[in-house]
Amino acid sequence: MNDARTATRAAEDTRLEVVDVAIVGAGLAGIGMATRLARRGRDTFVVLERAADVGGTWRDNRYPGVACDVPARIYEYSFRPPGDWSSLFADGHEIARYLRDTVRDEGLAPHIRLHTEVVEARFDDEQRRWLVATTTGTVLARVLVTAVGRLSEPRLPDVDGVDEFPGSLFHSAAWDSSAPIEGAAVAVVGTGASAVQIVPQLARSARSVVVLSRTPPWIVPRGNRRYSDEERRMRRDESTARAERDDLFADADVNVRERLGPGDELEQIREKALGHLRRQVPDARLRGLLTPSYEIGCKRILLSDDFYPALGEPHVTFEPSALARIDGDAVVAASGARYTVDTVVAATGFFATDMPFAQRVVGRGGTTLAQRWSRGMTSYASTAVHGFPDMFVLDGPNAALGHNSALYMIETQIDYVLGALDTLAADPGLCLEVTEDAEAEYTREIDTRAESTVWLRGGCESWYVDPRSHRLTLLWPGTGASFRERNGRFSAAPYRQV
Ligand SMILES: Cc1cc2nc3c(=O)[nH]c(=O)nc-3n(C[C@H](O)[C@H](O)[C@H](O)COP(=O)(O)OP(=O)(O)OC[C@H]3O[C@@H](n4cnc5c(N)ncnc54)[C@H](O)[C@@H]3O)c2cc1C
Repeated sequence: MNDARTATRAAEDTRLEVVDVAIVGAGLAGIGMATRLARRGRDTFVVLERAADVGGTWRDNRYPGVACDVPARIYEYSFRPPGDWSSLFADGHEIARYLRDTVRDEGLAPHIRLHTEVVEARFDDEQRRWLVATTTGTVLARVLVTAVGRLSEPRLPDVDGVDEFPGSLFHSAAWDSSAPIEGAAVAVVGTGASAVQIVPQLARSARSVVVLSRTPPWIVPRGNRRYSDEERRMRRDESTARAERDDLFADADVNVRERLGPGDELEQIREKALGHLRRQVPDARLRGLLTPSYEIGCKRILLSDDFYPALGEPHVTFEPSALARIDGDAVVAASGARYTVDTVVAATGFFATDMPFAQRVVGRGGTTLAQRWSRGMTSYASTAVHGFPDMFVLDGPNAALGHNSALYMIETQIDYVLGALDTLAADPGLCLEVTEDAEAEYTREIDTRAESTVWLRGGCESWYVDPRSHRLTLLWPGTGASFRERNGRFSAAPYRQV
């Protein structure tokens, strides 16, 4: 669709809504952004959400055992009253409720448009506004904030026979609660963060479980526990909660050291994981199959106390090869082994490195964000992209952490965007685009920081690294604190007026 046609369509559309800021996505990032805008008294913003409810990751991932794997007390908004978490690693339903409560308490509902999928967001070069076409109407916005998540587009196995499987086959992020599990034969494809939470739960009631694993994960003890009433009561005091949150964050943040390159920290975490494996898997053959051949930290280090024991149960089989195809009612592994099953759970991850939403964003001169990112995601400050004026990406390029809370990063980005909005508010005619040079310089900085890290040197394939460029495009290669130091404050210097 060309610019003129889009503009004409928008003008004719009786459902045209004109706002200052359009936020796409009502997950942790979109709700956080909306809260900060509402608290600043900004009226004219909308949150466009394709689903029937808010919550993003925590609305969609409803599988048995779903929980966060950073302490919940650092997985909460620092600008909201402390959350009353029941345990160290809160379960997903609790987090989903926390997000719904945030929307209610902050009075965000009037701003949120549910069942509203953004099909195209196009920068109109003439008006210097974003025309956002959705399934329920069109929004004209000065600023576009994308908060569509990096783990929001499930990736099903791309093998023959998936469509013909006669039983239940579904992705872990779209749990089918009517699927046969109790007394059934179940296959779990994948051994990532979701699978290690799901398998122990399924092992409790299924007749048999087979777990297909292309590469085994590194796993360290989890040590979850419920908080006592006294611990929960003490947390109502905001300064106590804040101090504790800062400590938990700082404790977790040092753990990046082991990923930044060889050294004592790397040796120690590897030894910790191997010790966990030795203690939990007495069978030497199974232990051999479960010992990763790549360096620890190259992929996400998982936390679990019940995955290895579940694999040791007589009705659970660990199949050390990938799913090759589905043949009728059997899953067939790359090793040739066949397993007849009633239900297949695809815990096969997400389209993370290529952010499918980028195909729907059209910047200056008609270039899509997907075209701009055809060799992998790049940005300035992990938030702005050359060619896409007055657009900010939350939880996008090099803004994730493998070792600490995503929310810390998201809040840092929200601060950055608020700074940009202040600059824009001071001059209604202003339209800001980050320069190509600034973006290239930032990209070089990321590459230098990433050079010796285990993510690039650890001998694994992971979604942190773009397969096209072999660059680290998902993770910030450093501490969360260093991300905030680098990117927490907006400056107009690397931008030009469009
Ligand atoms: C199972 C699981 C466990 C995790 N555990 C942790 C953890 O312990 N700690 C941690 O730090 N991180 C964890 N993560 C990462 C998690 O995704 C982030 O922490 C965080 O929830 C991301 O929030 P978000 O708002 O950026 O994205 P999301 O929560 O994915 O929200 C994006 C929203 O955008 C909407 N959307 C997408 N496209 C469109 C469109 N075209 N139009 C309208 N709306 C659209 C989606 O429907 C969704 O509601 C986990 C992820 C998963 C999948």
